[in-house]
Amino acid sequence: MDWADELAASVSGPQVVNDSKTPSGTVHVGSLRGPVILDVIVRALRRAGVETTLLYGIDDMDPMDAQALLTPDAVDHEMGRPLAHVPDQSGDGHASYARHHARTFIDIFDGLGIHPDRYYWMSDIYPTGEMDSFIRTALDRAADVRDIYRRVANVQHPDNWHPIQIVCPSCGRIGTTIVTRWDGERVFFECREQLVTWARGCGTSGWISPFRGTGKLGWNLEWAAQWSLFGVTIEPCGKDLSTAGGSRDRADAIAREIFDREPPLNVPYEFLNIGGKKMSTSKGRGAAAHEIADVVPPEQLRFMFIRPRPNQVIEFEPEGTDAIPRLFDEFDRFAAATAGKEVRGEIAPGFEATFAYSLLDSDADVAAEAAAFRPAFSHLALLLQIPNVDVAARVAAEKGSPLTEREAATFDERVGAARAWLETYAPERAIVAVRDTPPLEAIAALEDDQRRYLGALGDAAASAEAPRSSGEAWQDLIFAVAAEAGLPNGRAFAALYAAFLGRTNGPRAGWLLASLDPSFVGERLRAAAAAPQVPA
Ligand SMILES: [Zn+2]
Ligand SMILES: [Zn+2]
Repeated sequence: MDWADELAASVSGPQVVNDSKTPSGTVHVGSLRGPVILDVIVRALRRAGVETTLLYGIDDMDPMDAQALLTPDAVDHEMGRPLAHVPDQSGDGHASYARHHARTFIDIFDGLGIHPDRYYWMSDIYPTGEMDSFIRTALDRAADVRDIYRRVANVQHPDNWHPIQIVCPSCGRIGTTIVTRWDGERVFFECREQLVTWARGCGTSGWISPFRGTGKLGWNLEWAAQWSLFGVTIEPCGKDLSTAGGSRDRADAIAREIFDREPPLNVPYEFLNIGGKKMSTSKGRGAAAHEIADVVPPEQLRFMFIRPRPNQVIEFEPEGTDAIPRLFDEFDRFAAATAGKEVRGEIAPGFEATFAYSLLDSDADVAAEAAAFRPAFSHLALLLQIPNVDVAARVAAEKGSPLTEREAATFDERVGAARAWLETYAPERAIVAVRDTPPLEAIAALEDDQRRYLGALGDAAASAEAPRSSGEAWQDLIFAVAAEAGLPNGRAFAALYAAFLGRTNGPRAGWLLASLDPSFVGERLRAAAAAPQVPA
């Protein structure tokens, strides 16, 4: 059973699943793990017949605190203001900075098949007054809130600290304000010049009503208030927030002790690491979600996130590796197993659910999807580099019948992904230029037993009954002939790379040979076997 189905079986009654995000800056691929997990939980609940609502909050009353994301002339005026009040910096017409950046991730979610029932914007919620009762409770019980911070997080706030910030009526900043008193209807606030290092307050102070959009709860309180306001029952949360005494612990305690409500079920999830670094914070090339999305289509991206259990770290290093081809291969293996075909190696229990939840369409016919023909990614990446190959025709020949409309769409998607991979992340060895004429120097440098091996492989290929159009069939033959000749696999591959590419390494040899015209392969193997050895 899949982890999401286990979770769905453990709850009872209608469920409200929630997450929220501050709309600032680029969306890194690692930050998509949470939304995908959220979506899979919702699908599993619905599959189990549980009435479920998916909410996604946009915390756009949070202050702008990243100077690098503003145009230089906007820094002085905009730093410290709520993201919802900062103008769109890109000039493409969104109502605010927050709307611009939220649009980016809403589009990404959409592309990944994640469709919340409702997006709610905190800049819309506060002015309605829906948060006012939580603001009042938090202010009435400020001493208890301070006690929670001390007890749970070992954070000692001053005795006059109150868990709310005010949008300064003079300068519009929120990050620079502090509330020091509460009289039951109004708060006393100060917009301090030096409260934070990243924004400068204007010095205004005075009494003001904190209700209907003037005030904003501190983050942990806002989080707990969202749970009460929307009746949230499940909220997965990243490992960085789930640490002891961390944000989640604080919000849980505030929910229980201040807002008198049991916090939602947490599903803590681990990071996606890129080359050992937390990708959620990486600014390196290839970390942005849209960059990865060019090379990894949505179903493979979903698959990458949900195949491991949430509490397992995902190591993903696409740069100069086979990580992306391997991801496709694994997806295809799960599809084949789901279709009831035999697959190589062990496959994790729950593979059918993992495959089903990887599909873009939650209502897809899983059996039909599993049985659909998908060209191997590595093979496509090779075919695309061989001159004068009709790739579509070769793929149809491999399938043995014309591609269906759905299969043709998958084919197009994979061709695009393979081209993008070759241009971006592919390792040197995956880039091939098959030599038109035998690379005599490289062949001459081979040992006699390697040349004999090439000849034997040519004979075996010629005598084989079926034409070898599949990489796997070629791969099997390569290993079998090497075993028969007593030649170690590494030296067998080296001989093949020398004969076809004139170098010592290359992509998986079986797929390389499968990409080429069979008669060309036969000729080349015979020519290499007969080539003179290099004169000493
Ligand atoms: Zn915009
Ligand atoms: Zn101010």
